[in-house]
Amino acid sequence: MPFLTPDRIWKIHVDGAELEINERIIPDDARSPRQIAAHIPKGGKMKPVALLGGNGKARGITIHNTDDINVPAGTTPAEQYSRATWPNANIRGVAVHFYVWRRSIWQNLSLTEQGWHASDGVSRRASKRPGYTIGGNVDTIAVEIIGSGPETEETAAMLSAWLLKEIKLEPYAGLYAHNYFMGRPERIVAGAAKNCPLFILPRWNDFKNKVSKYYSGLICGGEEVTIPSGGFVSAPPLRIFKNFHMFFPEVYGVLKRMRRSGRHVL
Ligand SMILES: [Zn+2]
Repeated sequence: MPFLTPDRIWKIHVDGAELEINERIIPDDARSPRQIAAHIPKGGKMKPVALLGGNGKARGITIHNTDDINVPAGTTPAEQYSRATWPNANIRGVAVHFYVWRRSIWQNLSLTEQGWHASDGVSRRASKRPGYTIGGNVDTIAVEIIGSGPETEETAAMLSAWLLKEIKLEPYAGLYAHNYFMGRPERIVAGAAKNCPLFILPRWNDFKNKVSKYYSGLICGGEEVTIPSGGFVSAPPLRIFKNFHMFFPEVYGVLKRMRRSGRHVL
């Protein structure tokens, strides 16, 4: 089965845990095979191909949630979302920096480039840092948390802490829920068309505290180790599909198709 091969694997160390990041950056010249979103016609760019903030410096981390999916043995939902983004062009033009599921992390954008995930186009609003504005797409690194599993959330908290250290921002100033960029408070808003990160918003402060705990334990910006991609072996357990919630319209069509067909490679 044609699963993705990462271009490289790099590692970070947080609180004694070693996290492997499967890097597979969407190429700058990737072009959509068809019209996949209002902003991406056939032949359109699969990512903005622009530097964060215009200079490559992130002003924050945006936390998202998307649905867990069931996948065949030998792959993970993080790999499948990554594959669905590119090369399969099945995520309606959404591009995030990281997908996280349990201990599986896949990276699709560099830490200096813009994605398309925050529902705010190229706009900016007031940030949590006095004197700075911020746009979800144009200024932040996106961490997409797949499902609501505790191990997944823990991994995302560790990754977020490492990223905040990397971009030199304290969690209180640099961590954002997607809701923020939709002009909503960082909690579940009853009646809203969309709340994100849906599973984490009900305990957003707990998540922030978790990130802060990991952040304060990081002495420097972490460490990076490059490993030849040939050394990658993936043998995760089969994930049983559960707790379907529709809150990410961009991928709803994909998920609906998956529900009908059972296990799926995106
Ligand atoms: Zn989101």
